[in-house]
Amino acid sequence: MDRDVDLEAKTRETGREIHAAMSGAPVMFDSTRWIGGIMDWAMKNEDFKLRLFRFIDVLPSLKTNELVVRVLHEYFSGETEIPRIVSGGIEMLSKTGFIPHLAGPLIRKSVGSIARQFIAGKDADDTLKALDVLRRDGTDFSIDLLGEVVVSEKEARTYAGRYHSLLDVLSAGFSPGARPDVSIKVSSFYSQLDPIDWAGSIEKTKEGLRPLLRKARDLGISITFDMEHYYYKGLIIEIFKGILEEEEFREFPSAGIALQAYLNDTTNDVLDLIGWARARGRSIAIRLVKGAYWDYEVVVNRQKGWPVPVFLNKEETDASFERLTRLLFENTDVVRPAIASHNLRSISHAITCAEALNAPKGSFEFQMLYGMAEPLRKAVRESGFNMRVYTPVGELIPGMAYLVRRLLENTSNESFLRKSFGEKSSFEELIRAPQARRVSSGSGVVDEHFRNEPLFDFSMARNREAMDQAIRTVKEHTDRKYPLYIGGREVTTEKYIVSRNPARPGEIIGRVSSASKKEADAAIEEALNVREVWRKTTPEKRAGYLVRAAEELRRKRTKLAALEVLEVGKTRRDADADVCEAIDYLEYYGREMLRLGVPATLGNYPGEENEYRYEPKGIGVVISPWNFPLAIATGMTSAAIVTGNCVIFKPSGLSPLIGRELCEIYRSTGLPAGVLQFLPGPGSEVGEYLVSHPSIDFIAFTGSREVGLRIVERAGMFVPGQRNVKKVIAEMGGKNAIIVDETADLDEAVKSIVESAFGYQGQKCSACSRVIVAGDTFKELCDRLMEAAKSIRIGPPEEPGTFLGPVIDEAAMKKIRTDIEIGKKEGTIILERNAPGEGHFVGPVIVIDVKPGSRMATEEIFGPVLSIMRANDLDEAISLANDSLYALTGGLFSRSPANIQKVKEEFRVGNLYINRKITGALVGRQPFGGFGMSGTGTKAGGTDYLLQFMNPVSISENTIRRGFAPLTKD
Ligand code: NAD
Repeated sequence: MDRDVDLEAKTRETGREIHAAMSGAPVMFDSTRWIGGIMDWAMKNEDFKLRLFRFIDVLPSLKTNELVVRVLHEYFSGETEIPRIVSGGIEMLSKTGFIPHLAGPLIRKSVGSIARQFIAGKDADDTLKALDVLRRDGTDFSIDLLGEVVVSEKEARTYAGRYHSLLDVLSAGFSPGARPDVSIKVSSFYSQLDPIDWAGSIEKTKEGLRPLLRKARDLGISITFDMEHYYYKGLIIEIFKGILEEEEFREFPSAGIALQAYLNDTTNDVLDLIGWARARGRSIAIRLVKGAYWDYEVVVNRQKGWPVPVFLNKEETDASFERLTRLLFENTDVVRPAIASHNLRSISHAITCAEALNAPKGSFEFQMLYGMAEPLRKAVRESGFNMRVYTPVGELIPGMAYLVRRLLENTSNESFLRKSFGEKSSFEELIRAPQARRVSSGSGVVDEHFRNEPLFDFSMARNREAMDQAIRTVKEHTDRKYPLYIGGREVTTEKYIVSRNPARPGEIIGRVSSASKKEADAAIEEALNVREVWRKTTPEKRAGYLVRAAEELRRKRTKLAALEVLEVGKTRRDADADVCEAIDYLEYYGREMLRLGVPATLGNYPGEENEYRYEPKGIGVVISPWNFPLAIATGMTSAAIVTGNCVIFKPSGLSPLIGRELCEIYRSTGLPAGVLQFLPGPGSEVGEYLVSHPSIDFIAFTGSREVGLRIVERAGMFVPGQRNVKKVIAEMGGKNAIIVDETADLDEAVKSIVESAFGYQGQKCSACSRVIVAGDTFKELCDRLMEAAKSIRIGPPEEPGTFLGPVIDEAAMKKIRTDIEIGKKEGTIILERNAPGEGHFVGPVIVIDVKPGSRMATEEIFGPVLSIMRANDLDEAISLANDSLYALTGGLFSRSPANIQKVKEEFRVGNLYINRKITGALVGRQPFGGFGMSGTGTKAGGTDYLLQFMNPVSISENTIRRGFAPLTKD
């Protein structure tokens, strides 16, 4: 206790000395300067700050002065409260009539001057001058090459090449006594880095890193592995340790890694690294930072329903920083601490710790960011401590993400710099020990009623191992025979549907009995028997079966996903997502039925009572496709069941085993016999027979337009014995387009287009099959897309590194290949990749300059084929996008508020996505379904969906008896 009091007193004393030695303010906080004035206003006005940062973000990619001025207007017109310092600038521009050739360069210059506060130069040569200035007082540096997103192997090679040149320049240029260091972004060395492919990612990244480490070793330059998003943390640490264990790098004199104090599991990482270094008798540098992606970690992990890995309270991060600082200083035999902070308190505490633990001044260093806290840097350096400045180098476009991060950091409420220089807090306030008040960092999901099932976090070893194990287990039990399920009994037929692995068609996954008309008649008979009992079962009880089914699905989660990998060729991640979506439907529709199950009272008039409630339609057929074999089948069956109907479920002949698993899950809930019956069989035979049967009241179908329209036609024909007009719920195909305008963030656009177009081999109904480029980014976008598509891995989906697997069967493969031949005539193929020999593989194909109205531009191709079209402007792009019989999904990449608004109003599709991929709709959040030839217009996973399975009934009772009526409530 005494010791703590003593340390606290020393921390204050040290802090006071440094504080006294500080003079002036960083430029960002110098309100006499233009930049300081803008920052000051941004800190007072959140809305302005958002617009300003968004404008700064888009600016470097605006190619013409006209565009700069137009987008500036869009962001700031109507801004009335901007202080003079800003509005003066804008007004001045408007006085010049916003003459673009004057205004454009002026605006660029202003933002450039902000950027130059944080970015030392555009390349290594350019930076040497800035480094010289730093070196004058003996400050060292670590260079960070800006370049945020690498989407292809070509870009990864270019990035590595820049590092090599940087090392050359540094080795020639640094002065005697300097200890140059280079910070590397590990994820830039392999474009397909993904924790799901743990071993593959480590191996490939190491391949990219080795030449650089060799060179750095030979030149005597140290390397620090930067830390990135939490999702990559484990992988980065593993790569760091793994490569340093290699013979040639065992003696590598100086290597370090950055760790983030805002994560709640960093202590374990520090202990692990210390143990590792000690066991190998080597010393490493650990750069302790607070962490630069706090907002991202909170937002993204909450969106995914994953635990938030960071402390929610800034003071808790500060306290964690102090604990970790101490841990580092306790282990200086193997660790060289690099305390990276602009916080006077954290720095003073570190100095006190070092002294208390007798760490000599030369055994550790402080680090600060270039341009962020000059007064503090100088004061600490003058006290004789080693100081290193993290120095970003790069052009403005790749540097934008970095710049915006720094601006956010400087202007956030919690920022120490803001407190010390912006708000000029007292010394007492600045030196106060952090109060570690715990704030729960649970998933943070607000909706307590329904929440989406979180997808697997494949950065966790236990999830990867569970999938490995499940795939092994399913493979051990292939080629078994399975029966139908009719009236609570298993029924075996002579004919079987054979289910094969599309990646290895010789591998039979299983055989399922194939139903004929005889079994269809039996199933209908059973449904008729139980119909009345089921319809009278309460909504609560019916919903209970769904909740139990969801539980069972969770229990079998990996097994089901593994089966999808093997039966329909989904990658592990897509297969898991399909299982989660199935769980979501059960949970969501169960709750929806509780809502709709309560009769509504209509009107409020004396003498009458009006009730509005829903009744089940009767008996339905559910006909599902193979591409979301569990989710869609579960969605349609559960909706029909929970609304009180009996269901005959016919899965696709290409995914009968997953259909069978779903039937087993319902059975396990104790659902009464006859409520759900499992009847796989040929669509044209048993499917069509069921659709035309007089006892069927509705058909829920998802599949192709051709079959959907045929069902609509057959269902519309009256057959003797029929009592109802059959309701058809049909979800059909799409020819989905993404528009990319001239303000788009191409990093985001390329990544999302590759995922939307080639994810699950382009076999998602929501897949992107057309990109329409408005503006002059056509070539750049095509080149980057082509390289990105070249870099994705093709192979059997059971391998964790696979991005693109096989298409569903031989017929599909042949049809897609025919379509590609047509594409060669209708446009120019810029990419056609070969695919592995065995299996139904089709490599990704990109066709450009596809003519409007051509087959490529209008027909659904259910495969990895992407057409790219040009448009002169946004209007033309929208009109091309709407030029389709389908209206399912669509997307836009744009940072122009006006363009976003226009597309929202004019792009006519069921699901529109802005600045994100167009696949992966979530139940309850993006209810899914299209209109036009894409479907009958309602949304799966939305509030209207269940209504289609019921008939509304209105009951009105006259409550007047002899002139007397109960009182109505006001
Ligand atoms: P498909 O139309 O070939 O088959 C769908 C189902 O219909 C299968 O179960 C099949 O056996 C059955 N069927 C076939 N002929 C039939 C007939 N004459 N009568 C009754 N049933 C019959 O479609 P698919 O290949 O399984 O799925 C791919 C298609 O589904 C694509 O067009 C895709 O866009 C569409 N899809 C749409 C959505 C959506 O929500 N809009 C979702 C997934 C898939």
